[in-house]
Amino acid sequence: MKLICIGRNYTEHIEELENEKPSEPVVFLKPDTSILLKKQPFFIPDFSDEIHHEVEVLVKINKVGKYIAKKFAHKYYDQIGLGIDFTARDLQSKLKSKGLPWEKAKAFDGAAVVGEWLPKSNFKNVDNINFSLKKNDEIVQKGNTSLMLYKIDEIIEYVSKYFTLKIGDIIFTGTPAGVGKVIANDKLTGFLEDRKLFSITIK
Ligand code: MG
Repeated sequence: MKLICIGRNYTEHIEELENEKPSEPVVFLKPDTSILLKKQPFFIPDFSDEIHHEVEVLVKINKVGKYIAKKFAHKYYDQIGLGIDFTARDLQSKLKSKGLPWEKAKAFDGAAVVGEWLPKSNFKNVDNINFSLKKNDEIVQKGNTSLMLYKIDEIIEYVSKYFTLKIGDIIFTGTPAGVGKVIANDKLTGFLEDRKLFSITIK
């Protein structure tokens, strides 16, 4: 399985990193080895001094598809989740400035937190879901899927032009503003509406 990630999908986050607003979705992949194993802490890798948390709403694909039209996209997922796209920001900035691929900064072991899943039927409208991330006792990121530049069904249409979607693939839909550095002993807790979907410790 693969993780398909969308970058620059929330205006305020684009502004905080002084990026350009994209004219089409920014897409990158993480391999399955980047998934942080359940109940394991996240270990800060030795190649970065600036690991950032990016909380993101996740969508799990439940049907094989290619060239999926937006109007049929809702048939290709039935679970919604929450995770973190950990990013070695110092390394990513270097790679970006040279126009190089981001994988080393985004796809390393443990860089993808995948929390618990909830049935899509729990939500009246997937384009209006609140989510947040707490670092220790403080809410550091807060978003609502209505603020996405490219909504879930549009993302599925777009990425399925390039990649066949397979059962179990996970889409990371982008992060809202408030990304920031983690240090040892931080505790990150993610909420989708009022449900806690993950809690991890940084080492
Ligand atoms: Mg991200």
